[in-house]
Amino acid sequence: MKQTGDLNLVKKINKSIVLHHIRTNSPISRARIAEVTGLTKATVSSLVNELIESSLVEEIGVGQSSGGRKPMMLLFNGTAGYAIGLDLGVQDCLAVLTDLTGKVIEEYIIEHNNDSVDNVVNVLKSCISELIGRAPESVYGIVGIGIGLPGICDDEGNLLFAPNLGWENVPLQHIIEKEFGIPVVIDNEANAGAVGEREFGAGKDTANLIYISIGIGIGAGIIIKGELYRGATGFSGEIGHISIQHDGPKCRCGSLGCWELYASEHALLQQARELSLPGGEDAIDVDELLKLADEGNPAVIQLFERLGYYLGIGVVNVINGYNPEFIILGGRLTGAEKWLKKPMMAVLERRSLPHPRKQLSVEFSQLDVRSAVLGASSLAVAKFFADAEVTVERS
Ligand SMILES: [Zn+2]
Repeated sequence: MKQTGDLNLVKKINKSIVLHHIRTNSPISRARIAEVTGLTKATVSSLVNELIESSLVEEIGVGQSSGGRKPMMLLFNGTAGYAIGLDLGVQDCLAVLTDLTGKVIEEYIIEHNNDSVDNVVNVLKSCISELIGRAPESVYGIVGIGIGLPGICDDEGNLLFAPNLGWENVPLQHIIEKEFGIPVVIDNEANAGAVGEREFGAGKDTANLIYISIGIGIGAGIIIKGELYRGATGFSGEIGHISIQHDGPKCRCGSLGCWELYASEHALLQQARELSLPGGEDAIDVDELLKLADEGNPAVIQLFERLGYYLGIGVVNVINGYNPEFIILGGRLTGAEKWLKKPMMAVLERRSLPHPRKQLSVEFSQLDVRSAVLGASSLAVAKFFADAEVTVERS
């Protein structure tokens, strides 16, 4: 009996390996899968047939032959199910419905005024309901919901602390799972952003990547050897609280002179309020500042350039500390790249250590503000396959 159990497990694991290769390399032939996995052709054929019956794989006609009969190519069926990704910000919630390959099918944004946890949770629920309603018919339906949050989460799906929302200890995963009966994964928005960049953005094929999210605060998602690095207890990436001025102003974290006091959206808006800008203090937000800079307002351009300088000061610490291959800066301020990048790069040239800088790329995100929301959806899909790959059985 034991032996049968083990054989079943081996079969399930092999099936999961075959599916993984089809997901990441399709179109691919059965022969090629056998070649790269070391499984026999007969085993691969039998497992592929089961995956076709499960609707996760389909045949798409004959491919190129390297001699002999032309092979039937296999494709991962991305529309066998759908996932929802959410990126909860301090003022709004961005949501996407994607297929299993991460292709965006629907997008939805809703503003909130963060008046209470309950009200914002209701906003999340209404985003999810809206997208569930818009999802096309599919075999597996909505396979998961991923939520990126501006705070620290534990392994149990609790949002422990989100200072800019003013939230503490919210069992968010449980609340949303209970409401919809769909598996939920929550994570810090910078972690989700790093995953989004690795899967869909400039960080594709990069093993050592740091995504720096510049929002109201600054956080980082750190990918080391292809894996998200969460630290010993899940709290890594709080790089906005690297002190860049030892006797600087007090930060909400309790320290002094933290990087985000100088280089975040919050810092930018604070400095902008000290200028006499058209429309008065109340009209100032990032979009308005981008508009003014585009119109050539010298004071606003100077603000962005100074922010670029301060971004550089912190990024130098990241380069020297982690020696990444790729640093991607994301968040709404990516819209100001043309004013931020030059002063930032000048600081990197002058101050970072030459060896870690040598093979390094530093770019602003090309995913606009979607790094975290796409990453959140990708985390939900990954959870579905991690949970289901070995259990997806012939129906
Ligand atoms: Zn701080």
